[in-house]
Amino acid sequence: MNLATLMACATCRHALTEHPEGNRTIYRHPVTEDRHDVVPVAAHHVPQVFNRCHTCTTSEPVWNYRTGRIQIADLTTGVLATYNDQWHVCYRCAHFIEADDSEALTAHCAAAMLWPPHTAEYTVLRTLHRGIVIGREGRTLLTTTAWPPARLTADMLPKIRDRLTRLLHSPADLPGPLNDREQRQALANQLDLAPMYWINQEFTDMVNEVSSAQPPATITHDLTASPAGLLAWPEPVGRDRHLAAVSWTPHRDGWHLIGYRSIGTALDDDLMPALRHDIGWLTPIHAEHLIRRTTIDGRHPLGPLITTWLLITQQLAEAVPAKLRKSTTRAYRRDRRATPDVRIVRIKASNTTTPPPHTPAPGTGGPAKPDHRFWVSGHERQQAYGPGRTLRRRIDIAPFLKGDDNLPIKLSTTVRVLGSRTTEREGNTEGS
Ligand SMILES: [Zn+2]
Ligand SMILES: [Zn+2]
Repeated sequence: MNLATLMACATCRHALTEHPEGNRTIYRHPVTEDRHDVVPVAAHHVPQVFNRCHTCTTSEPVWNYRTGRIQIADLTTGVLATYNDQWHVCYRCAHFIEADDSEALTAHCAAAMLWPPHTAEYTVLRTLHRGIVIGREGRTLLTTTAWPPARLTADMLPKIRDRLTRLLHSPADLPGPLNDREQRQALANQLDLAPMYWINQEFTDMVNEVSSAQPPATITHDLTASPAGLLAWPEPVGRDRHLAAVSWTPHRDGWHLIGYRSIGTALDDDLMPALRHDIGWLTPIHAEHLIRRTTIDGRHPLGPLITTWLLITQQLAEAVPAKLRKSTTRAYRRDRRATPDVRIVRIKASNTTTPPPHTPAPGTGGPAKPDHRFWVSGHERQQAYGPGRTLRRRIDIAPFLKGDDNLPIKLSTTVRVLGSRTTEREGNTEGS
């Protein structure tokens, strides 16, 4: 489920606020008293969407504050203006709100709009801000913010993980599908113990190159690199290059997967430490409950994770323990926590191809050697075993990249394996 679809009004191009009403979501303009009905569409269909802080209108919003519906009466004219009950607020304005400093909030916003103090507009603004600061009932992290990406390193992973678990433990709300308090605690506790994987640049380039053409793969325990984990790429991957990391944790009948966008240096220097403290480096953009044996191809929003797992399973890549900074390991020891388990995943240094499981050895009558590498689709096989090989069991052959490491990758051809229902002897397969 995508958590990061920004909605905008097709008529006025303003980003909209979401108001859950029973099972549906109602969309409203930032200020409800507008002259036209809202026409909600996904923002990527609208050119030049206006997605700015509702209070200062200068920066992109980060938090959604909830209040009662705010109305302000003008005592001289008798006009009652209705505003809203949800406020998309930028990080700096949120900083003022969290400090209960509505005067500073008004001064900042009025200055941004060039409204001098002691004017009628200033007074209205001040009243509105007081209503937000005093009347706020909670805040939700907006997952639609277009953060510039961060460059993530293996060294950073323990801190990135700890900030994520802190966010999960914090009173701030997350998008509905991730907000169940019990599940948030359980997820944070699982991530605390999970190994962390950092994919090196060379392997990331390869994942980006081959992921979109990756054939459907069946998700099983054999495929996931470990029962739970947090995996990050140095720079975002995927079709739109937004996916910076994915976590997976075991769930009743499968796994709970969350995809994250990274947060680069996005704010003025004075705000960055607070941002790293409050939110950290990762913001969820996709959540998925994967039931065991679901099949996923490379076009899925979390496809790059599946491709990464496949290439690890195929032993094209290897995971080696990362050497962490002394200060990191010392800090963990001080807190009586186990040393964080960070693994660097890199392409195996070898000039000879490790034969993927169940492919013919060279010279066994297989087809002529190809001059490029290509995906071979996954399939099931009935494998003979037991006394006299009379018994059969189903085994999964995961999709794999075929061909020598030094060959170019050609992705227009995915070879479909035929005869997947045939029976064969253990360790000996037909060609593909
Ligand atoms: Zn509109
Ligand atoms: Zn603002």
